[in-house]
Amino acid sequence: MKLLNKVAVITGGGRGIGKAIALEFAREGAHIIVNYKKSRDEAYKVVEEANKLGVSALAVYADVSKYKDVLNMAKTVLNKYDKVDILVNNAGVLINKKLLETSVREWTKVVNVNLNGVFYTIKVFGKIMASNGGGSIINIASVAGYIPLMNGGAYSASKAAVIMLTKQAALELASEGIRVNAICPGPIKTDMLLSEYTERELRIRERYMPLMRIGDPIDVAKLAVFLASDDSKYITGEAYGIDGGFAISTYLLLNKLLKRD
Ligand code: NAP
Repeated sequence: MKLLNKVAVITGGGRGIGKAIALEFAREGAHIIVNYKKSRDEAYKVVEEANKLGVSALAVYADVSKYKDVLNMAKTVLNKYDKVDILVNNAGVLINKKLLETSVREWTKVVNVNLNGVFYTIKVFGKIMASNGGGSIINIASVAGYIPLMNGGAYSASKAAVIMLTKQAALELASEGIRVNAICPGPIKTDMLLSEYTERELRIRERYMPLMRIGDPIDVAKLAVFLASDDSKYITGEAYGIDGGFAISTYLLLNKLLKRD
């Protein structure tokens, strides 16, 4: 087991990519803290599943965009565990609107959750990790952090900032024994993606992906295990794309458009 007896906090761990990461960590022997905001029941189900895998687990409410909530979450975690080894900043929101149609309120919401939330948890859990000799922080950014979405400018900008925050934190926290890396998923089958596309559109998208499929949450979870474990102990400040080739698909799309294939 790659994460035996590690203590891992996963924000937004009740569903989607966060749930897959939480359960894959549990399979690798980690005790997991499943943060949730709205999905309380789902978070408790993840706890039950983790217990069945033989590890301890805790569901904790926090809106990561509120610094006080993050502080309270850390208190709850430290009541049960005397350390934190791994932090996964997975919580995120997407508002699919063109910039000119995005309200200031919507912009602020996306930045508050996707960027400020990551800073708050790094600040709070980074100190805890430093006091127990180090660990690994993994920020779930997006390919949208380097390829602008058609709509959703606030999302793209927030994810680009998360990639730089990752590098900044990696540089500053290296001396504390903390590695910080980002994962940049392309399309992954979760509520976030499925709410944006019809079944038919998804099938078409799959045909235009170099690897001919939309990713599953477990694809991201496997990479998260690598970055959380000692297998990656010489890696910090990196941002890993995991996108079925989406970021390199420009000429594939062009060829399909020109019917050259
Ligand atoms: P999802 O199914 O919509 O799940 C979003 C998660 O974020 C939920 O667990 C939700 O928790 C949590 N969350 C949202 N706002 C929160 C807040 N204020 N405080 C705490 N938790 C909050 O989406 P997903 O696809 O699994 O997304 C996970 C991460 O991957 C996000 O950062 C997303 O940007 C990124 N990503 C996804 C894709 C994709 O194609 N799916 C691609 C690139 C990047 P509650 O339900 O408890 O509120």
